[in-house]
Formats: sequence, structure tokens, C-alpha cells
Amino acid sequence: MTGSSYEYIKENVRQLLKELPPGVELVAAAKQQTPEKIMAAIEAGVKIIGENYVQEAVSAFQVIGRSVQWSFIGHLQKNKVKKAVEIFDIIETVDSVELAEEINRRCAAAGKVMPVLIEVNSGREPQKFGVFPEKVEELARAIIQFSNLRLCGLMTMGPFEGDPEESRSYFRETRQLFDYLKGLNLPGAEIRILSMGMTNSYRVAIEEGANRVRIGTAIFGPRL
Ligand SMILES: *Cc1c(COP(=O)(O)O)cnc(C)c1O
Repeated sequence: MTGSSYEYIKENVRQLLKELPPGVELVAAAKQQTPEKIMAAIEAGVKIIGENYVQEAVSAFQVIGRSVQWSFIGHLQKNKVKKAVEIFDIIETVDSVELAEEINRRCAAAGKVMPVLIEVNSGREPQKFGVFPEKVEELARAIIQFSNLRLCGLMTMGPFEGDPEESRSYFRETRQLFDYLKGLNLPGAEIRILSMGMTNSYRVAIEEGANRVRIGTAIFGPRL
């Protein structure tokens, strides 16, 4: 396959970029996609690649390199942090002090400062990752103590099955939390990224204040 293939991917990206309001960043959620498909998205204007698995990111990164930003959007296991720190420009899914501490340790060793978001479990679903909204401030105050992390905002999945209107109240609550966190003026933090909304919910998320959306299916088509 050459770079001129996957015209549907390029068309999807162009449509999305046309639709997104100024100031809303597009993250192409690339799980299960080949480097060739990701390249097609990049050729059409994608600037940020979202990866859920460090191992998949390693393969894609070997082909694509630093021409784009790499954003980690999956659940990060501690034994993958070292590799993740080498590749990613931002980690969107910090949800414990222990994980923050490990990222900080690896970044200190690598001489880097890592931008991070706190993943909020806005639906308060026990089986899901992320911290409950009422625990976000506590984690934020812990993260700013780590000198090799920079706290940049919040990320949430929301309950994503079915009607996107059902996600609206969760996005709204996360936006309120984001504004609250910004208002705390935490030293060293730079609260500016609110990452929420996927293929079925990004329009609602943007209406509720998202400035970063993570979209897979609407770019690459349905996953297997
Ligand atoms: C897969 C994934 C997305 C994109 O989902 P789509 O419904 O395919 O757009 C966004 N965020 C995260 C964390 C994901 O794992």
C-alpha cells in the first residue's frame, strides 16, 4: 500500500477538520490501525495520534516518528512507563499518585518534563479507570509536587454507549471541574486541555466545552 491509498481516511479527516471549531484539537485514536492508515490520516492533516497500547505505539512510532505529537490515551501499566516516556508527548490518563510518581521518576531519569492530564471517571463507574470527580483536586495537588510532570488538564471517557445526549451531564460536570481546577491557580500547573468526546459524542462534548476530541471510528472506520 502506498501513501495515496486510503482515500476514505483522508476524506474523513478533511471533513472532521472542517467541522471542528477553531481551538478544538483533533486526536486520531489509532488503536488497531496500521502505520499506513495512520500515515494517511496524517497526510490529510492530523497532528496528534492517540495510542492506547505502548506496544502498538512503538511499532507506529518506528514508522512515523516525531512528525506528529503522540498522546497516550489508554490505561498505563507501571511496567510500561519507561517505554511510554520515550515515545509520548503527553499522557492523558493519569489516575493515581503511584502512576504519577512512576512517570515522574522515569521522566527525571530521561531529563524530560511530561505534560499530563488527569483521567476523570465522570460516570463514577466502579469497573472503569479514572478518578471520581471528588478525588480530582487531591490528585492534582499531588501531581504538582512532581517536578518532572506538568499538569495540563482533564480527560474523560464518559459512558459512551448509545445516545450521546446521555453523556452530556458527565461532560458538563467534567467541564465544571476543569474550570474549578483552573481557578485554583495551582503553582506549576497549566490547566488548558479538556479532552472529551469520541466518534459518537464529540459534538455534544464540544458543546459542553471540550477543546480536544479523540476520534477513531469516524476517521478509520469500524474496528474489528
Ligand atoms: C478508542 C478510543 C477513542 C475513540 O473511539 P471511537 O469511538 O472509535 O471514536 C477515544 N478515546 C479513547 C480513550 C479510546 O480508547
